[in-house]
Amino acid sequence: MNNKKLNLTLKIWRQPGPNSAGSFVEYKVSVSPDASFLEMLDELNNELESKNLEPIAFESDCREGICGTCGIVINGHPHGPIPRIATCQLHMRNFKDGDTIWVEPFRARAFPVIKDLIVDRSALDRIMEAGGFISVNTGSAPDGNAIPIPKDIASEAMDAATCIGCGACVAACKNASAMLFVSAKISHLALLPQGQPERYIRVQTMVKKMDELGFGACSNTYACEAECPKGISILNIARMNRDYLVAKLKTEEVE
Ligand code: SF4
Repeated sequence: MNNKKLNLTLKIWRQPGPNSAGSFVEYKVSVSPDASFLEMLDELNNELESKNLEPIAFESDCREGICGTCGIVINGHPHGPIPRIATCQLHMRNFKDGDTIWVEPFRARAFPVIKDLIVDRSALDRIMEAGGFISVNTGSAPDGNAIPIPKDIASEAMDAATCIGCGACVAACKNASAMLFVSAKISHLALLPQGQPERYIRVQTMVKKMDELGFGACSNTYACEAECPKGISILNIARMNRDYLVAKLKTEEVE
């Protein structure tokens, strides 16, 4: 436990609603280095509320880096400057006394701001609804090890399945592309036997929905991989592109 507090200046994006203009508002905080970034915002909100001021709207749920809810851009990095962690896992000891920290929402055409740091990321859910599932009736649940899968393939599928759907890859991309997210969701099913029946329909429906929802094309800058809190590899994008090409050659066009 470190008792010395950090004195910080926060420049936080405040925007009352989707159709209002937003701007950065400055706040001074004194916070324990052991606090998480979200706990620091909780403390600031308690103080604002005690003065009858509007608290800062931000999202969080599990606060364990699992749910993908807590994405905020901190000093220009989705989820903050420390690689491979979500905003809720970022601790204030990663900042220095006297620092100024810029805090803003994920910015992408497909993610409209709802209020302050909260954006509407339901476009990712609509991509999943378009094909990110297995719909064959498999009967009762089989034993987990009933279908032999080579260890390296199972590991690749599990790596892709660690995507928490936070959307940081979209916010990091200069084209606001969702290709890392979509390719992770496609890959984890495409690598497993259960995903084969719908493999080529799935890649077409999900890519089509991604394009319809206003996400941009892959910018090939690798910014998505660099900012992803779960270390999802861009090799998944290559797999998705290969599957998409094969789908175009061997299946009927998706309506
Ligand atoms: S690929 Fe990474 S950055 Fe993109 S949604 Fe999944 S976990 Fe978040």
